[in-house]
Amino acid sequence: MEEKAEMPKKHKGAKKTYRRSNPSIYFLLWATFSAFSLFIVLLFGFTQSAMMRNSYKSQIASDLAENGKAIRRSLLEYNGPFYSAYVRYQAQLYNVGVYILDPDGTVIFPVEEDGSEDFAGQFDFSEKVERLIDKMQSAENGEILYEDPSGEYVYGAEMRAYDEGEEGRTVYLYVFKPLQLVRDVVAEMNVRTLLLAIFVLVLSFAVSSAISGALTKPIAEMTEKAKQLARGDFSVDFHGKAYGGEMEQLAATLNFARDEISRSDRMQKELIANVSHDFKTPLTMIKAYASMIQEISGDNPEKRAKHTQVIIDEADRLTSLVNDVLDLSKMRAGIEVLQLSVFDLSAYTQQVLDKFGYLSEKDGYTFAADIEKGLFTRADPVKIGEVLYNLIGNAVNYTGEDKKVTVSLRRDADGNIRFSVTDTGKGIRPEEISTIWDRYYRSAEAHKRPVKGTGLGLSIVKTILERHNFRFGVESIVGKGSTFYVVFPSADPSEADE
Ligand code: ADP
Repeated sequence: MEEKAEMPKKHKGAKKTYRRSNPSIYFLLWATFSAFSLFIVLLFGFTQSAMMRNSYKSQIASDLAENGKAIRRSLLEYNGPFYSAYVRYQAQLYNVGVYILDPDGTVIFPVEEDGSEDFAGQFDFSEKVERLIDKMQSAENGEILYEDPSGEYVYGAEMRAYDEGEEGRTVYLYVFKPLQLVRDVVAEMNVRTLLLAIFVLVLSFAVSSAISGALTKPIAEMTEKAKQLARGDFSVDFHGKAYGGEMEQLAATLNFARDEISRSDRMQKELIANVSHDFKTPLTMIKAYASMIQEISGDNPEKRAKHTQVIIDEADRLTSLVNDVLDLSKMRAGIEVLQLSVFDLSAYTQQVLDKFGYLSEKDGYTFAADIEKGLFTRADPVKIGEVLYNLIGNAVNYTGEDKKVTVSLRRDADGNIRFSVTDTGKGIRPEEISTIWDRYYRSAEAHKRPVKGTGLGLSIVKTILERHNFRFGVESIVGKGSTFYVVFPSADPSEADE
């Protein structure tokens, strides 16, 4: 039966540009900028006009109090004729309004010389006098100063008129100054403040446009280049120098990311090429020897045994290669969880070292072991076993003519445990030191090794130790040899599992 595989529908919007759910930098800048400047302008404008109004008013009040007293004194002292003219003169002198009023609001002075009402008589003073009389109750010295709701400051004083007999009667001196001027000035100031606010709004619009343009331009540029990078173009170069320190830093980070991605991309390609090559070699061998058995050695037990052994060896090599690749990718992907426990690292190191014992008997290798007893650590013993095995194996492979490998496990000055393995080989060139930990790096020269390697050993070591967060590294002198080391944290033996 034929089955049609249905292509999964492309995730909607995956390729679309990002939704504009967040306000743009431009809008944010503009809003913040205008709100801030508007706030400042209005605050300043209105507090200033309020302050000005108050100071004007108090100035008027104090002037009026002084003028009122002077006028009162002058009027009391004046005995001459033309009283009305004198009152007008006083008003002119001090630039205030001056009236002498009856309790019912009738203007007594000034009047026309013939006694008829003058111009002021047109006004209705009855309400004002009522308020004055009301205020007078709390007066000291028979005088009072207050702001009348009709919009003027008033100085009021009691006086006596003797026009109707010896007793005399109470009349009122009403001196006032309108507040209109203050109001006009304040209104004018408020209008100016508002105009300024509008100007500031326009200005902040322009300034925030300029700033956000300068800010977003490099971001837009970098976004475009990052997309290019995502499509696999590693030739992109991020610039940010012209746009200030942060942008320069961002550009540098992106350039670094580009280099890392391109490196890992290259390594991945190399890995695939190398792995497939290494898969192919044993497969070719297996096929060749199988054919040989079939065609030639099938009847010859001796040859057949030799040829089948090659097949078995090559199959083993293939298996370990597959295992290494699998291990590494599982570790890298974080699928494998570390099984941490406290264990005797001293005994464990000795055990791993013992696995190489056959080499001293067979090939004349010497292992110098300097292992302090009873050092415990917390780690994944199986993984650490792989690390130790790989590092000692490499030392064996790369050591010099004297075939000497030194293994040491000691407590260091900080109380940690330092494992190191030293060979007497040709060492590693400084420029190679950083690459040897990469997947499938193998120094250019072909090398015959007693311990089989897949070229993934150090990469596995690095991955395992990084997952543990352990410090590790290599010190190497070309021509003299290398020392690979790992620093283990020390653990309390009493916590050890059985
Ligand atoms: P393999 O040893 O299988 O090639 P590794 O990942 O273990 O793979 O090592 C990577 C490379 O690091 C080796 O090919 C070699 O060039 C270098 N290397 C590792 N250990 C040593 C050592 N002790 N001395 C010199 N070079 C070493």
